[in-house]
Amino acid sequence: MKFFGKSFGKFFALQAIFVAFILSLLIISTVSAQDAVATNPDLYRVLLDNERVRVLDQNVPAGRRENMHSHPAVVKYTLSSYRGTVSYLNGSATSMRRINPGQVMWFEPETHSQKNSGRTNMHTIMFELKGAQIVQSEKQQVSDDPLVTAAKFHKLLFENDRVRVFMFRLKPKEETPAHYHRDGVVYILNGGTLSETLADGKSHDVTLTTHDVKWMDAKTHKVKNTGTDEIRMLIVELKD
Ligand SMILES: [Zn+2]
Ligand SMILES: [Zn+2]
Repeated sequence: MKFFGKSFGKFFALQAIFVAFILSLLIISTVSAQDAVATNPDLYRVLLDNERVRVLDQNVPAGRRENMHSHPAVVKYTLSSYRGTVSYLNGSATSMRRINPGQVMWFEPETHSQKNSGRTNMHTIMFELKGAQIVQSEKQQVSDDPLVTAAKFHKLLFENDRVRVFMFRLKPKEETPAHYHRDGVVYILNGGTLSETLADGKSHDVTLTTHDVKWMDAKTHKVKNTGTDEIRMLIVELKD
């Protein structure tokens, strides 16, 4: 009967591998099932993704409800005027007041689904913070801060222990004094051309395209608008 023992052993071994395989698939699918993009691929577009942050373009047509999903901590910047209702896993729901374009909102990690309950597109840019806890060099001096040396061009829209959000505006021919930025992300609301001078005194031209997202390593710089339009961008500086 050794033959049977052997083949049953083999059968159970294969079954165990199969069960392990199915379990691993389930684990993978429950992780990605929570992801905003995986659960709602036609409503979210990934604009940038690195170890620190993921930037999403959220576009929900009027009347549409999202599938349930999770976010880490998020900074949201609204591009359109809209109304929404947010539902949570426990079945509760909240209707939001009308949201206007240009609003900055902060959300702690959350699982939810949103319905566009108005008649306009819900269009936002979401900065999902990965909380990489990277220790940034503390070379930032109060004297270098954009709000000190270049306050005319940087308006602080929001700040907490994890981010600072600025609106940056620079008219044609205007030039900022030198200032320091932490690591962060820039979302270009109105593009143009800049001449950027870094701490070593070297200058180069930069072309900014409207709706582009750029990662920015911490740096000291000054910039001059060399184009014909006002440049506007949202700067999200990361503190972690
Ligand atoms: Zn969401
Ligand atoms: Zn700057």
